[in-house]
Amino acid sequence: MPAEINMPQLSDTMTEGTVVKWHKKEGDQIKIGDELADVETDKATMPMEAFDSGTLAVILIKEGEKVKVGEAIGVIATGNEKPQEIKNQYSTGARPQAAKPATVVAPAAPAPQPESSSYSKPSSAPAAPPPKAANYQFDIIVIGGGPAGYAAAIRAGQLKKRVLCIEKENLGGTCLNWGCIPTKALLDDGAFIRKLRLEAAEHGVSYKDLSIDFARLIRRSREIADRLSNGIAHLFRKYGVTRESGRGQLLGPHKVKVGDKQFTAQHVILATGAVATPLPGVAFDGKKIIASRQAMSLAVQPKKIAIIGAGAIGCEFADFYDAVGTEVVLVEMLDHLLPIEDEEVSLALERVFAKRNIDVRTRTRTDRVETTPGGVKLTLSGAKAGTIEADVVLVAIGVSANTAGLAAPEAKLQLVKGRIEVDPQYRTNLEDVWGVGDCVSVRWPSQQNMAGFRHPDLAHVAHHEAVNCVERICGVSDHTIDYRSIPACTYTHPQVASMGYTEKKAREMNFKIKVGKFPFSASGRALALGEPDGFVKLIFSAQYGELLGVHMIGANVTELLSELVIAKKLEATEAEIIEAIHPHPTFSEAVMEAAGVADGRAIHL
Ligand SMILES: Cc1cc2nc3c(=O)[nH]c(=O)nc-3n(C[C@H](O)[C@H](O)[C@H](O)COP(=O)(O)OP(=O)(O)OC[C@H]3O[C@@H](n4cnc5c(N)ncnc54)[C@H](O)[C@@H]3O)c2cc1C
Repeated sequence: MPAEINMPQLSDTMTEGTVVKWHKKEGDQIKIGDELADVETDKATMPMEAFDSGTLAVILIKEGEKVKVGEAIGVIATGNEKPQEIKNQYSTGARPQAAKPATVVAPAAPAPQPESSSYSKPSSAPAAPPPKAANYQFDIIVIGGGPAGYAAAIRAGQLKKRVLCIEKENLGGTCLNWGCIPTKALLDDGAFIRKLRLEAAEHGVSYKDLSIDFARLIRRSREIADRLSNGIAHLFRKYGVTRESGRGQLLGPHKVKVGDKQFTAQHVILATGAVATPLPGVAFDGKKIIASRQAMSLAVQPKKIAIIGAGAIGCEFADFYDAVGTEVVLVEMLDHLLPIEDEEVSLALERVFAKRNIDVRTRTRTDRVETTPGGVKLTLSGAKAGTIEADVVLVAIGVSANTAGLAAPEAKLQLVKGRIEVDPQYRTNLEDVWGVGDCVSVRWPSQQNMAGFRHPDLAHVAHHEAVNCVERICGVSDHTIDYRSIPACTYTHPQVASMGYTEKKAREMNFKIKVGKFPFSASGRALALGEPDGFVKLIFSAQYGELLGVHMIGANVTELLSELVIAKKLEATEAEIIEAIHPHPTFSEAVMEAAGVADGRAIHL
C-alpha cells in the first residue's frame, strides 16, 4: 500500500514546516530509520526519519516549499505497487484510496530555544470563528461542571464571555467529588496508618492499641471534596459564570435544553465526563458489586475486598484497603499491575504488593461474579484460577463516556464507541459544538504518528483541553496538546509517575535510546525518610539527548514528575538535566543522577 510522508508536528507550536533538503530522490530505496529530509520549523531544523520501507515513489513538496502540519510531502511505495503509477496518480492531484497517511515521524528535536511567551497567538488563525448572530443568550454554554467543564467556564468568564455552565450534580465533577481528591485523602490516611503499624518501633514510637475509625476516614475525605466543590462555586461567582443545575441536552448547534428550559449560545462545549464501566453481564448493585464511588464511601469497612482491574484506580484502592487492614485480592487479566506502565515499574509494584500479602492475581480472568448471602463469589480462570469469596467486589476495569441522552437524536452528534468524536482542536462534527475531557475520543489526522498513545482519562488532560478549547474559540491561543507526553500518576505507596515512551515502546519505534536508572536505595533523602523502594528511570534519544520517557516508582515521585514535564516542554537534553543544580538532600537528586547514569557520569552509583 502506498504510504504518504506527512509533515509532522515537531513541537506544540508548530503549524507548518519547510522542506529544507531532501536526502533521498524519487526511485531511491528507503529503509525504516533512514533520514528522508531536513525540515525547518519555527524553532529549529530537524531531520525526518522514515517509518516505512519501500521505494520513494514521488516527492510532492520541493526543497524550499512550506506546507501545513499533516500535509503529504511525498509517498513511499511499500508493497508491490509500481512507483511510476503512484507518481502518475498524484500528479493528477488524486490521492489513491488506499494510501495510508503519515509514514514518518521526525525524531527528537535537538534542544531549541524555549517559547518566549506563555501564549502562542493563533498563527494560521484557525481560532476565532467569525461572529454570527448576536442574539444568543450566551457566548458559551458548557455542559458538565468537572475539571473540563468548570475550567472551560472559568476561563471563558475570565475572557469576559457570557457563559452558562450546566451541571446535574456537584461542581467539580468526578475529580473533586468522586475521584482524584477524595481517593488521595484516603490513601494518605492509609499510608499514615501503615507507617504506624509497621514502622513505629523503628522510629522509636510505641503505643498500646491502634484502632481505626473507618467512618471518620471516609468523612474526612468527603469534607475535603465538599470544600473544593464549594470553592468552584466561589470561582464561578468571581468570574461571572452563570450556573444551571440539571441535566443538559444538546438540541443542535447553539441550542441546549435543561428540563423545560431552553438556552442558546454561539458555542456549546460538551464536558460530561465518564462513569465506571461494569463487567460485561454483571450490573453494579451499589452494595456488594460496587464501583469506585461506593468504594470510597462504604458505611462499614469490609473484612475482605476483591478488586477486578489493576489500573491506577484498582491499585489505589488495593493500597488503601490493605493499609486499613482489609484483606485484598487484586485480579488483573493482563500480565502486570498498571499494565500501561513501563514493565520494570509494574514489576517493582508487584513485589511491594506481594510483600504486603495483597493477593495479586495477574493473567487471571474473572469469568463470573455472583452475590451470596455473605457477600460475593468470583470464579476466575487463567494463571491463578479458582474461586474467591469476599464481602464486596470493586469493579475497576475502566470508564465509559457520559453521553447517553446527551444529544437529541436529531442533533446527529457523532459518537465513537459511546465517546464524542473530536479532532485535535476539540471540534465535533457539529458546527460550533466542541467536546473536551473524559467524554471524548480524539481523531488524530495520523494514528501512526501517535505511536499507540491514546486520549487518557485524566483530570489534568481534561483541564488543559478545556482551557485550550476556550482560548481557541476566543481567538486567544491555538495551543494544542502533545498526547505522547502526558504525565500520569498513581498514588499507591510507593507512588508511580510516568510520561512518554516506555522502554519497550521506544525500542519498538526504533528510537536509538540511552536509559538511565537510579535507585532510591542510593538516595540519602529517601533513606532518611525510610523510603528506599523504587527508582527513577529516564529514557533519552541517543542521537539528540531528548527526553523520550520518564518512569518512576517511589515515595513522592508524583511531585518529581513536574520537573520533567517542564524539561520535556523546553526540550531539555540529558546534559541540561545533569547540569541543572538539584538541591541536596532531595528526592529530585535521583532525577539528576538518572540522567547522569544515561550519560555515564552519575556520581552516586
Ligand atoms: C476513583 C478515581 C480516581 C481518580 N484519580 C485521578 C487522579 O489521581 N488523577 C487524575 O488526573 N485523574 C484521576 N481520575 C480521573 C479524573 O477524575 C477524570 O479524568 C476527570 O474528572 C475528568 O474530568 P471531566 O470534566 O472530563 O469529567 P467529570 O469529572 O466526570 O465531570 C463531568 C461532569 O459532567 C456532569 N454531567 C454529565 N452529564 C451531564 C449532563 N447531561 N448535564 C449536566 N451535567 C452532566 C457530571 O455530573 C460531572 O460532574 C480519577 C477517577 C476516578 C474515578
